[in-house]
Amino acid sequence: MPELPEVEITARLLDSALRGAVIESALAPGINALKTFDPPLSELSGRQITAVRRRGKHLILQSSGGLALLIHLMSAGRLQLYDKLAGPRDRTSRLLLRVAAGAGDADAAGAGAAAQPRELRLREFGSKQAAWVKLLAAAELEQDAALATLGPEAWPEPPPLAELLDAPRPLHTLLRDQHVIAGIGRSWVDEILWLARLSPYKRGGDLEAEEAARLRDAVLEALGGAIAHYEQTVQLPIPDKLPMPLRVHRHQGEPCPRCATTLQAVHFEDYVIAYCPTCQTDGRVLKDRRLSRLLR
Ligand SMILES: [Zn+2]
Repeated sequence: MPELPEVEITARLLDSALRGAVIESALAPGINALKTFDPPLSELSGRQITAVRRRGKHLILQSSGGLALLIHLMSAGRLQLYDKLAGPRDRTSRLLLRVAAGAGDADAAGAGAAAQPRELRLREFGSKQAAWVKLLAAAELEQDAALATLGPEAWPEPPPLAELLDAPRPLHTLLRDQHVIAGIGRSWVDEILWLARLSPYKRGGDLEAEEAARLRDAVLEALGGAIAHYEQTVQLPIPDKLPMPLRVHRHQGEPCPRCATTLQAVHFEDYVIAYCPTCQTDGRVLKDRRLSRLLR
């Protein structure tokens, strides 16, 4: 589940490895991953990679000549760089960029590392093929609907949350809404609400000023802490399974790391929220709000 911290570390590692490198060829073996046809992907050949960066949960790879690849990994995608052309020959690669050795290589690989071409691959795991790629003119990037509709970044400088979340919707829903605030998904939202000691069902509009400030601190602590953790533990190629330093999400049934109460899980719409009843809901056990029940 790549969310802001996972996409951020991917962008950082790829930026340091690829900045200055020249793209030899670009292919999209799974046609449905590529959502644009003009300019064609072959336009990237011969261009230099000028930056790899993140916006929300999106990756952006910029090239010389004013082109940009906009990539969304969705729930099961990874953007992986293989040193040689000996990466896995599998059917999970949705985008293949063959990259010549570039300016960044000497620092990254050390002296003596040959000018070995490398492959940047968008691979997708699981049954759903949902990750997507757009090749756009860099000047039009910010107007693309995927980016133009994003809310402010959740990290490193989120705006004050009292106004941003002032709506009659549960915090759990608001924080994951990319149009409200960009970067948080179903894993990190559990950690954030647990850190802030707030109920996932509390309505954004009901936040006291002090709670809103606490929640903002929790957003920064959870996301910033995860990025710092990945800086220490993750290297290229990004592993198929990125070990996320989660303490609450998917830990239902285990003791709360803060108070030792058993963490609970509640079904909300089509997924599962983990929380601590003592820390977050005044001891109350939350009731399921399954989508199937709401629709009835
Ligand atoms: Zn607790």
